[in-house]
Amino acid sequence: LYVEHPLAEGQTVPLTREQAHYLFGVMRQGAGAAVLLFNGRDGEWLAEVAEAGKRGGALRVLRQTAPLRRPPDLWLLFAPIKKARTDFIVEKAAELGAARICPVQTEFTNSERIRRDRLQAHAVEAAEQCGGTYVPEVAELQKLDRVLAEWDATRRILFCDEALAGPSSALAGVGGSDAPWAILIGPEGGFSDAERARLAALSHARAVSLGPRILRADTAAVAAMTLWQQALGD
Ligand code: SAM
Repeated sequence: LYVEHPLAEGQTVPLTREQAHYLFGVMRQGAGAAVLLFNGRDGEWLAEVAEAGKRGGALRVLRQTAPLRRPPDLWLLFAPIKKARTDFIVEKAAELGAARICPVQTEFTNSERIRRDRLQAHAVEAAEQCGGTYVPEVAELQKLDRVLAEWDATRRILFCDEALAGPSSALAGVGGSDAPWAILIGPEGGFSDAERARLAALSHARAVSLGPRILRADTAAVAAMTLWQQALGD
């Protein structure tokens, strides 16, 4: 169960109404039941139900069961698309171990805004379901130009470009390097020529192909993260 509270032995953690409904109504747990907790910072902790009510309750934290497992330092930058598919990208990025998820507005991006809190909740749910102890932060939507202008060049960018449309040049050479990386995925309409030129001029960005077919943006995000993981063996 994800909670916002700091986790340490002896702490009492109050439950929200939704959490109480889930634990006591849906899962039929009661006082004394064991629950595993994480907050994205302190690892995983065993707790027991100290108070069970219809609208709330409390857990008592007993002991740590696992340390915080940080994923490798990979950011996913992607242009938000339709709502359900944007939700999908965030969910899968969290499952596949993105350390940070950054929605970026490119020239051909149709969405002008995102619901950051909603996307963050999807990242929490994904971490919960895959037994993670880490929750990637979902950043506010920012213009790609501005992101690139302020970029710290020590983090290299894998710029996924469907225009390369060759065999998957994929992520050869990524493994073995301990420099942090970011994957960049474009919107439905792809990148503009100006954006391609701008990215090509950056020494820390490298254009990669994900294979000969043009993938949907959500598929491309999952494929790129999976290939990256495979290259890294993590
Ligand atoms: N129109 C489709 C859609 O609705 O999603 C295709 C969108 S494709 C242009 C979106 C992004 O996915 C591209 O900007 C690129 O980042 C990535 N992408 C898709 N296929 C790719 C490929 N074969 N190689 C590299 N990147 C790819």
